[in-house]
Amino acid sequence: MGNVTIVGSINMDMVTSTAVFPKQGETIKGERFVTMPGGKGANQAVAAARLGASVRMIGRVGDDPFGKILTDGLANEGVNVSNVEPVTDCSSGIASIILSDQDNRIIITPGANDEVTVDYINQFEQVLAESDVVLLQLEIPLDAVERTLVICQKHRTKVILNPAPAYPLPDTVLSMADYITPNETEYELLFKDSNEYQEKIILTEGEAGVSWHEAGKQKRVAGHSVQLVDTTGAGDTFNGALAASLSNGESLEESIVFANAAAALSVQSLGAQSGMPTREEVQEHLS
Ligand code: ATP
Repeated sequence: MGNVTIVGSINMDMVTSTAVFPKQGETIKGERFVTMPGGKGANQAVAAARLGASVRMIGRVGDDPFGKILTDGLANEGVNVSNVEPVTDCSSGIASIILSDQDNRIIITPGANDEVTVDYINQFEQVLAESDVVLLQLEIPLDAVERTLVICQKHRTKVILNPAPAYPLPDTVLSMADYITPNETEYELLFKDSNEYQEKIILTEGEAGVSWHEAGKQKRVAGHSVQLVDTTGAGDTFNGALAASLSNGESLEESIVFANAAAALSVQSLGAQSGMPTREEVQEHLS
């Protein structure tokens, strides 16, 4: 299997379920509370590791108890965490999520993820140079994303940019990525008015599957019909699986077919990381 390096976010998701939301200034009793490891970077690292890739995470956690829990959790999944350094006097990235049947409200505090700086990335030029595939998202500072792309371009390392959560991106960033993997909302925001990056875009379309252009032709794979439980992490599973498969030398089309199946399997369980499948499970589903 190939080497995949993920440069991205590591968060603890703190989820409170409630029947109603509190009004301003009000305190109410919640129904249930759970903590779950998350962050797009960490989720994608776990997805790729379960699928058998040799995965290294470049990111940061806080020096709070969550930092150790998150780092140990990644290591237990087989992810190399020697480039996940704790930040002194800083919290880990936290997503505070309030859920009711009708609605959800989320505050993401980046904490240590904001300390993935250009200087931090520069320490790992050799790691990036030796990777088969590097996978990036947008939950760390944009200048660190850009620096990673510059280093990878210099060493001809393939990069997948998952433009999530989306915001307008400079052409310098878009032009250096080999593949860009928006969902439909991100596509609308970033590419609706331009064909410039058409050959790099791999568009995920939820249950409808995936479409992309290759050698001037539009291609598509249909979504798999599965028992839907929770789509959280479907996009992260897709990206981790795409990176794992490309790093293994499989073609773009083979890798998209594989990632589409892995992502479909992931929506059959609750939570982002818990439903991520193994390579054997994906192969069995495809056979
Ligand atoms: P999320 O934010 O829910 O993690 P996303 O919005 O980033 O996902 P989607 O395009 O919704 O990305 O889903 C990514 C991929 O996951 C799809 O291209 C498809 O392969 C798979 N997928 C998502 N939802 C379903 C579903 N209901 N049935 C089968 N496959 C699905």
